[in-house]
Order: sequence, then C-alpha cells, then structure tokens
Amino acid sequence: MGNFANRKPHAVLIPAPLQGHINPLFKLAKLLHLRGFHITFVNTEYNHKRLLKSRGPNALDGFPGFSFETIPDGLTPMEGDGDVSQDIPSLAQSIRKNFLKPFCELLTRLNDSTNVPPVTCLVSDYFMSFTIQAAVEFAIPNVILFPASACFLLSIHHLRSFVEKGLTPLKDESYLTNGYLETKVDWIPGLKNFRLKDIADYIRTTDPNDIMLNFVIDVADKDHKNSTIILNTFNELESDVINALSSMFPSLYPIGPLPSLLNQTPQIHQLDSFGSNIWKEDTECLKWLESKESGSVVYVNFGSLTVMNEEKMLEFAWGLANCNKPFLWIIRPDLVIGGTIVLSSEFVNEISDRGVIASWCPQEQVLNHPSIGGFLTHCGWNSTTESICAGIPMLCWPFFSDQPTNCRLIYNEWEIGMEIDTNVKREEVEKLINELMVGEKGKKMRKKAIELKKKAEENTRPGGCSYMNLDKLIKEVLLK
Ligand code: UDP
Repeated sequence: MGNFANRKPHAVLIPAPLQGHINPLFKLAKLLHLRGFHITFVNTEYNHKRLLKSRGPNALDGFPGFSFETIPDGLTPMEGDGDVSQDIPSLAQSIRKNFLKPFCELLTRLNDSTNVPPVTCLVSDYFMSFTIQAAVEFAIPNVILFPASACFLLSIHHLRSFVEKGLTPLKDESYLTNGYLETKVDWIPGLKNFRLKDIADYIRTTDPNDIMLNFVIDVADKDHKNSTIILNTFNELESDVINALSSMFPSLYPIGPLPSLLNQTPQIHQLDSFGSNIWKEDTECLKWLESKESGSVVYVNFGSLTVMNEEKMLEFAWGLANCNKPFLWIIRPDLVIGGTIVLSSEFVNEISDRGVIASWCPQEQVLNHPSIGGFLTHCGWNSTTESICAGIPMLCWPFFSDQPTNCRLIYNEWEIGMEIDTNVKREEVEKLINELMVGEKGKKMRKKAIELKKKAEENTRPGGCSYMNLDKLIKEVLLK
C-alpha cells in the first residue's frame, strides 16, 4: 500500500486567473513545496498556454513533486496571439458559473491517480470562492490567500453597508467629480483617514447591477467564518486593520510580505528559474541598468491590467522626457487603449539612451537593482509590497480596484510616496519625479521606505511574526 510519494501532504493551489493573483499564490506554492508538500498548481488553460509561451515549453518540467493542471475558463477564445489581459467582468461572471464543476472533476482525477498522493488541502485565491464548496465536498481544509492589503479586505467586507447606507451606486456621473468622493468614511473600525475616494473603486458606479460591485459583495458574503485566511502583509504595516480583521476572521495568518519571506528562505534559489509571469520577460533592461549610477533610475510600470488613452500616455512620456532623469518604462502591448502607440521621433531623440522602453520585465529583479531610485506605479498590491521589500519610494497613479486604497496607504499612512492626479499632466509628472529622485521630500520617503524594508525583513526571517505564522498555518491547518 502506498509508496513514499503517497504519504506526502498534497496541496492543490488555484489562483484567480490574473497575473497579480497568480504571482503571490505561486510564491506560496514554492514555500509549501520546500516544506514537503506535493504541489498541484491550477491555472486556466488560457493562462497556462501563455505561461508555456513566455517561459519556454520545458520551463515547468524538472521539479518533481510540483505539477501543473488546467481547467477551462468558460470564456470564448480570443482572436490573435492571446497575449492580452482578459476582460475582468466576464472572468468574474465565469468564475461564479463555470469553475466549480471542472475543478471538482480535477480533484477527483487527482485522487484517483496513482502518480500523486491524495489531495489533502486546498489553497485558493479569495476571489475563487467556489473552492469553499469544493473543500466541503472533498472534506479537506480550504485555506484562502487574500491577494491584496488587509485594508482592502476590511473595506470590501463592508461594501454591502456602502449600498445599505445609500453611498453607492452613485446617483449620477457628476458624483465622480463634484467632491462627493471626498466624503469621510469614519464608520469602519480600523480604517483611519479614509474617504470614499480611497475605497475599492467598485463603488464608483451608477449601476445597481454593476457586475464587479455585485461580484465582490457576493464573494464577501460567503461564509468565511470557517475559512482560514492568509494575508500578504505584516503587523507593522497594517496593525490596526489586522486587529479589526482578527475579530471578524478567527483564523487569520499574516505571512507577508511574500517577496521578503521568499528571499529569506535559503533553499528557494533552487526554484529561481521557476517563474509565473505570463508575459515574456525582457532581461536586456537589466544589463542597461548596470550602466547607470546607484539610485539614479526612475522605474515606470503600470502592472498587467491598467490601460490608458493616448493623451495620458503622452503626458507621461513628455513628463519623463522633460525631467532629465534616466528611466526604464515598461509599456505592455495592451497598455494603450486602441493599440500600441508609436512614440514620435522627437520623443525618441529627446530621450536617446537616457530612457529604455521594454514590454515586460522581471520586476522584482529590477526593483532590487541598485540603480533604481524611484518607482512610478499604478499601486497594485504586489507592486506595492515588492517596492517596500526593495526599500524604493513610489509615485502613485492608481487605476482601479484596490489601487486607490493602496495609494492612500502609501502616501498618507506610510509616507513613502506621492500621488499623481488621475488627470495626469506632464508638468506634474516632471515636478514629482524630480521631488522623488532628488528633492528633500524624496529623501525622507526613501528613508522611510528603507525602514519599512527592514521591518519586512525582521517579520519574515526565522523567528519573525510572518515566518512563524507560516509555520503555524502549516501545523495548525494544512497538516491537520
Ligand atoms: N510584473 C512583472 N513585470 C512587469 C509587470 C509586472 O514581473 O513588467 C509583475 C509584478 O512584479 C507583480 C505583478 O506582475 O508581481 C503585477 O501585480 P500587481 O498587483 O502589482 O498589479 P496588477 O497587474 O494586478 O494590476
């Protein structure tokens, strides 16, 4: 009966099918793998194909005890080469309707297989809430990774109250610009100095049937009392909010920031080549960074989902050109609405070898390169935590979802960044980049960012809170 492999605990991990959700769960998968778990990582077919395309057909082989499976995403296949982000509201609807059945079939298949041990636990993204039911059906623990800040978790668990209080949906579009969003939100214990503007942008709708607002309320309404929730944050970063959440969720494990937890795990480097980016990384930019002075380069990246119109793109472009600092700008092929913009020869001449543009990069390596001095970011939670782990101050241009919340934390609570107006103008970009890179304010923010980096390291090294929380999670829940 049963060979050695059959006695290993077997964790099945399933992220929401978006880059910013795949990356943190993949990090957790690596950590569990090193702690002796057999890992099955489940992507959608669409994302798995992209992963193989970006990393090479054999990139996912060669790690015994760590395998990949796929389920369909239920969406109509897109035309073209499939190197673009999928429509989020459509994905949200499909997750609700189409994912449970193929996921349960996969679990049955894994349990019937003689090649892998029986499945002993699920680890899923918070927004994949169908896994709660799957775990009940298979009588195994389901652990949920919340991929954003603790603050965002707290605020979306009050989203229903925003509706009940009549704060959302908005009466009409004028409420987006008439100062209404400055209204204070002072009735959620744990949230300090928050305005409507800083809450999940799903409330900025006039439609009571808005797909995202209702999807998120629905997920938050799920019975989480019996779920174990992992947070990619740490106590010093969000202590009041973590305290408030502890009374709502009895089984809460802050184990972040994950980049730092991984960096401090010595054996992790065996898995360095094992990445989860579904865009092909351009590594040439790392060589270019080598030629630049320490702390001199502005790194610009708006993540995997932000889009902007041509006008805004040009404001950023000329702001960067006019500030006279070296910069590395990542322009995803689908960043500009309506297709890739051709930057004028005037712009190209102006930046000559001072600016480098690439379509995707190994972001954590870039942020940790000594030549980087500041990060112009859309404030995705991964980008935010990766920047903190590198001790880099930020210029924030939040786009949607949790990004306004993260932006508020960055400039108001932690004071490690500044905000750029939504209606971005080149003069403002130029001024704020100068302030960030060489100004007095920039110096102070850099100092605070480095202090937070140190705290992150203290939390994630052996004996630190986050490190011990991962140990406890494994013993108390995953191996129970
Ligand atoms: N990323 C990367 N290279 C890029 C752009 C992004 O490696 O050129 C990674 C980044 O390190 C992060 C993730 O993609 O882990 C983006 O997640 P985030 O939460 O910051 O933003 P989202 O893409 O979800 O808006």
